[in-house]
Amino acid sequence: MAKVRTRFAPSPTGFMHLGGLRTALYAFLYAKANGGDFVLRIEDTDQQRFVEGAVDLIYSSLLESGLKYDEGPDIGGNYGPYVQSERKEIYAEYAKKLIDLGGAYYCFCSKERLESLTDENGNRKYDKHCLKLSKEEVETKIKAGEPYVIRQNIPTEGMSSYDDLIYGTIEVDYKELEDNILIKSDGMPTYNFANVIDDHLMGITHVIRGTEYLSSTPKYNLMYDAFGWERPVYIHLPTIMKDATRKLSKRYGDANFDDFVNKGYLKEAIINYVALLGWAPKDNREKMTLQEMIDCFSLDGISKSPSIFDEVKLRWLNGEYIKALTFEEFYSLARPFLEKSKVNGIFDLEKIAKLLHNRVDVLGEIPEKIDWLANLETYDLALFDNKKNKTNAEVAKTLLPKIKEVLSSVESFDNDTLFATLSEKAGEWEVKSGAIFWVLRIAITGQGVTPGGATEIASLIGKDETLKRIDFSLSIL
Ligand code: GLU
Repeated sequence: MAKVRTRFAPSPTGFMHLGGLRTALYAFLYAKANGGDFVLRIEDTDQQRFVEGAVDLIYSSLLESGLKYDEGPDIGGNYGPYVQSERKEIYAEYAKKLIDLGGAYYCFCSKERLESLTDENGNRKYDKHCLKLSKEEVETKIKAGEPYVIRQNIPTEGMSSYDDLIYGTIEVDYKELEDNILIKSDGMPTYNFANVIDDHLMGITHVIRGTEYLSSTPKYNLMYDAFGWERPVYIHLPTIMKDATRKLSKRYGDANFDDFVNKGYLKEAIINYVALLGWAPKDNREKMTLQEMIDCFSLDGISKSPSIFDEVKLRWLNGEYIKALTFEEFYSLARPFLEKSKVNGIFDLEKIAKLLHNRVDVLGEIPEKIDWLANLETYDLALFDNKKNKTNAEVAKTLLPKIKEVLSSVESFDNDTLFATLSEKAGEWEVKSGAIFWVLRIAITGQGVTPGGATEIASLIGKDETLKRIDFSLSIL
């Protein structure tokens, strides 16, 4: 059997959309799971949609997420060039061949004539007008410099059929297809033509792409057949939805890889989550490295039905990845976010990072999780209410002066010492130790929920600040 070759063929029209990343990932996984090659091809024939910088973004997003391609524009390979705009002559040559084979024809129709073909519902289908032109007529027009396009010649009747590995047998009535343009008047091919020529010449064995191409694939098959080329195996992937009714859309800027990275999602978590958008391994595992995915990737795990992009699940998975980091790894990734917070320059960021490591799902939330720590402002005294520990503002008022006295004389202000010293007092003060910690925590943070307990935070902000905050709380009690 021929070596498996898959490709990812993005159009450089903007950022890397998670839908595109999923297509790339499955093409990568399929190739790697079968000892094959994964090829990157840039489909930039629609120059109007071209976005500056988009190609670099494609390279960097793929490499950052671990999808190392074996051939591509920036690394070369035996089947280049890998950028469609550099393959114009190749398409021209094959378009001529296809015309000779009867699979395509020149069309000189004016814009006005094409517009006149529009029916009352606004639909337009080309009427094969130029198919009637003789070879001589065509030559005369070309010589006279008349602009033209090349159209595909699609049969007017009959059924097309092919097998998709996910969706089964797909049948499309030729009547439903149109004689699309293959080569535009500027000599550039359309996707409809270029994808076939390139997939064949690049030796692509398995075409993996979104379901939006399921119904146009019969057109491509006509060309493979006309040229006498073997059709590739088709694997169309289910749609990714934003919710029950809306597609996740590149056009509206939904779900862009870089946005998620900037928000503090780890690349490994993103790629792992993206893998689960339409595929599951046999054992339904969720957290997997790229290598683990390669080891268990198989097409029968791909679902036919659309999957819903669920940011809550992505958050959860990201949290799992964060917890699995060593502290050093976490600290270095968290640092830029810690530096953006109000505590930067006031408290020890590394100590804060220790408190946060098991308590954040998304790094971008670090500032909002700790900004309040920078200073203590008036807060709701009802925060002292706690049934389990039998505390309230009144209890706080009596306990805080005692806590303050104890803390004033603690030499080493580390968490363990503080914890042990205050715990010991519970008996003498006839309260639960939980009450002491509850009251202290509220008094120095003014927050209902904090990353870390009372003594962890006290040790973080230090003795002076702790005593100052207790005084402040006593002043408002
Ligand atoms: N350039 C096409 C796209 O971005 C590629 C489709 C395909 O994989 O054939 O949708």
